Amino acid sequence: MNEIAVFWFRRDLRLTDNTGLYHALKNELRVLPIFIFDTDILEKLESKIDARVEFIHATVDSIKKTLQALGSDLHVYHNTPLDAFKQILKQYDIKAVYTNTDYEPAAIKRDAAIESFLAEHGITFKTFKDQVIFEKDEILNETGKPYRVYTPYKNKWLSKLASAPILPFPSETLQSNFIRTAPTAMPALSTLGFQKTNISIPPLQVIRKTITEYDKTRDFPYLENGTSLLGIHFRFGTISVREKVVKALPLNAVWLSELVWREFFMQILYHFPSVLTESFQSKFNVLQWRTSEDDFQKWCDGQTGYPLVDAGMRELNQTGHMHNRVRMVVASFLTKHLFIDWRWGEAYFAQKLLDYDASANNGNWQWAAGTGADAQPYFRIFNPTAQQQKFDPEFIYIKKWVPEFGTSSYIQPIIEHKAAVERAKKMFLVLKN
Ligand SMILES: Cc1cc2nc3c(=O)[nH]c(=O)nc-3n(C[C@H](O)[C@H](O)[C@H](O)COP(=O)(O)OP(=O)(O)OC[C@H]3O[C@@H](n4cnc5c(N)ncnc54)[C@H](O)[C@@H]3O)c2cc1C
Repeated sequence: MNEIAVFWFRRDLRLTDNTGLYHALKNELRVLPIFIFDTDILEKLESKIDARVEFIHATVDSIKKTLQALGSDLHVYHNTPLDAFKQILKQYDIKAVYTNTDYEPAAIKRDAAIESFLAEHGITFKTFKDQVIFEKDEILNETGKPYRVYTPYKNKWLSKLASAPILPFPSETLQSNFIRTAPTAMPALSTLGFQKTNISIPPLQVIRKTITEYDKTRDFPYLENGTSLLGIHFRFGTISVREKVVKALPLNAVWLSELVWREFFMQILYHFPSVLTESFQSKFNVLQWRTSEDDFQKWCDGQTGYPLVDAGMRELNQTGHMHNRVRMVVASFLTKHLFIDWRWGEAYFAQKLLDYDASANNGNWQWAAGTGADAQPYFRIFNPTAQQQKFDPEFIYIKKWVPEFGTSSYIQPIIEHKAAVERAKKMFLVLKN
């Protein structure tokens, strides 16, 4: 058997400008590309009708077809990563496995186990920075510690960017180095235990106009292309963040700053993994959240009697997306008006959001709850009615998702605004003792 290298696709589902793939294809060995439908992850998903799995399946299938047209193939496994590698090792003589770094705690643990398994077989595990511009310890404060607050992090990020031009990794130019293999079958979605959904994924659109006008359009949920809708593509790497940053630089500083938020929360989770279960600012761990299943269910179903909240939740339930302004409003409503634990809302979003990302979801929920990095101070509570007047004054977004709004069938508010605000302030008073 000839020695080969493996490239393992994960959150980087593209053949172009892919760092790890570029390095794999540049090495002297032929490259076997693989993808693993990880049963450890899939089995944990509550619903077996999941648009994200469908999206991954379609994307993997498309990469597979492209590679088959080149006389190669993407080898697809449905297994735990460890068992998939055991299987691959029986068929091939592997010298190295290349992949792009994943910074989530569960992924770090998985990769450590794979690395040590491969090491036992004399195989090197090589990881590369791909899904971010700056990773791990690249952006630290003056005392060498990770930033806990966004603005100084962003300033450092931008100054580092100015001093280090972004270079692409043109993996697409090296495709003749993939191993030649006979085509293998693609497992059907149903074989993975999943069904098709009726949710459509936002396409990889031409977004120059959106980015250029982003600072003026981004806050209005009724606008069609007010934001890029690229969340799911960033999440699964169907686009290159380097390409988008280069594009955004001359066009719009505000859109660029959203990509910095993305990396800010990624580094928060990387350096402080306990945020997944605890408040980032530990003093907030004492808060006595309400545990009303009934109120929570009304929030989930978009039945609170606050039209902007209800519109947002119904948009989420029907499409897997919710506009950012409205995400902030519904998160504030759950944690302040209903005083329900941000972890409940975080878990619900995790099930539903197409662009679900552990770091961004956790960071934004903690921000809204007032427990996180750069927290929205607890005394600042979004008024859902004022937010509607400002950002959906003609009720266009609301009427789209809450058609009965304005008729007698629309429900009364489940809680009175002023009383809710008073209760939230009182609950936060424990921190003053
Ligand atoms: C409670 C709450 C939960 C959220 N959960 C997620 C999540 O699970 N995954 C997620 O990607 N974003 C999350 N966000 C951030 C933001 O709402 C989405 O990134 C954005 O709405 C996606 O739409 P877009 O692709 O059109 O983004 P655009 O506005 O066009 O922004 C471009 C990209 O920048 C990144 N981005 C933008 N805003 C943020 C932000 N505040 N934090 C981190 N990254 C950002 C995303 O990758 C986004 O796709 C959450 C926000 C809130 C308030």
